[in-house]
Amino acid sequence: MTSAEVGALACQRDSYRQSIDSTVVEVSAAKDSGNFHVVLSDTVLFPTGGGQPNDLGTLVLKDVSNPQQTIAVQVLDVQRIGLKCVHVVPRSLEVGQTVVVVLDWKRRWDHMQQHSGQHLLSAIAETEFNWDTVGWMLGKERNYVDLSPTANHPAPSAQLDMGILLQIEERVNQVIRQNLSVIVHEDDHDETKAKPESMPNDIDRGVVRWVEIGKLDRNPCCGTHVKSTAELQVLKILSLERIRGGKHQRVNFVFGDRVVAALQASLERDRALGPLLNTGPESFVETVTRQSQQLRIVLKRTKDQTKEIAELLAFKLTLELNSSAEPAQVLVHHREDGDADFASAMVKVVVERCPQIYCVVTVGSPKEGGMVVIQGPNAVGVDQIVKCFANACGDSVKGGGRNDKWQGKAVNWKGLAAAQAAIQVLHL
Ligand SMILES: [Zn+2]
Repeated sequence: MTSAEVGALACQRDSYRQSIDSTVVEVSAAKDSGNFHVVLSDTVLFPTGGGQPNDLGTLVLKDVSNPQQTIAVQVLDVQRIGLKCVHVVPRSLEVGQTVVVVLDWKRRWDHMQQHSGQHLLSAIAETEFNWDTVGWMLGKERNYVDLSPTANHPAPSAQLDMGILLQIEERVNQVIRQNLSVIVHEDDHDETKAKPESMPNDIDRGVVRWVEIGKLDRNPCCGTHVKSTAELQVLKILSLERIRGGKHQRVNFVFGDRVVAALQASLERDRALGPLLNTGPESFVETVTRQSQQLRIVLKRTKDQTKEIAELLAFKLTLELNSSAEPAQVLVHHREDGDADFASAMVKVVVERCPQIYCVVTVGSPKEGGMVVIQGPNAVGVDQIVKCFANACGDSVKGGGRNDKWQGKAVNWKGLAAAQAAIQVLHL
């Protein structure tokens, strides 16, 4: 039994066909993956090609042990190898076995809309706006075309902008409304005819497929297409990116059902943001701008006040130390909601006012840890205090310093109490 070749597969002859009775022609074990490669007499599953991703679907076969039952084998991938359409499946099949090939239509319909849409977008961009398509991709969520000025473009180094793109979008949407036919022609490729440039290098014979959109466009393409521009529903251009040093310009776009899905996602975001911002979508930008300005002011004020609290606290504690009958050799202080600025500011005031004592300030929560700053009259003493942290906290505290000052960071403060207790009994 022979197999239909890529170029003349059932899915290419009729892109709306969703299932076909077929026969297994070849089976081989795939290298490494444990999967199997199956070639069928014909198929409605399109293999990756022409910029269009592969279809997915199932092969439904009779259960030999229970003829009333069927077994559905998932098709994991569909690849073109030469002119063969290869179905990648997780289990082996018998040559000669009959199967029903069932297409995942939702995925395919989306590919048809995006791919036929790209043909129309590229045709309008080229013929009416002098922008050539030099590359394209059908992505999972969004697609792109890379555009470059055509030889006819009045400004060869022109840059695209959203203004031009919205004009292109408007024209494409007009053509969608005109409901032009999208027709696929076949011709047999042979050596006497010039091979279309876009055909893969490993194909030198077989059927060449031409896709025509009304009188607007005629291009060789192996993909599956909608039957009229109306089925594209609508184009939305999403954004413009400069790529490869600005030589090409990448235009992100979606057609049809993807526009509806994108709008739905946008509405859901609006609905989630509304109560958070306490306003409607029309005021989001204004509200967020105002709130971020307010936040900047509050953060600056908090920073200044934290420093002031650190200095005042240092002042109070040193006042107590200086008036105490028993001279202290070390001041240990921890503040859970403090930050690095708090620790530095406090230590600075303490050593200025009490140069004879060692000051140890730590900040941060037990779980997340934070900064430690140590300063004192001599390096040997500072080193003894650092050792207390090393013994109690191990690798969770790391840092460095010079002479009479050391600072570090803790990833948690589980060992803090033990370190503080060890410092209190040092002979500094
Ligand atoms: Zn195409």
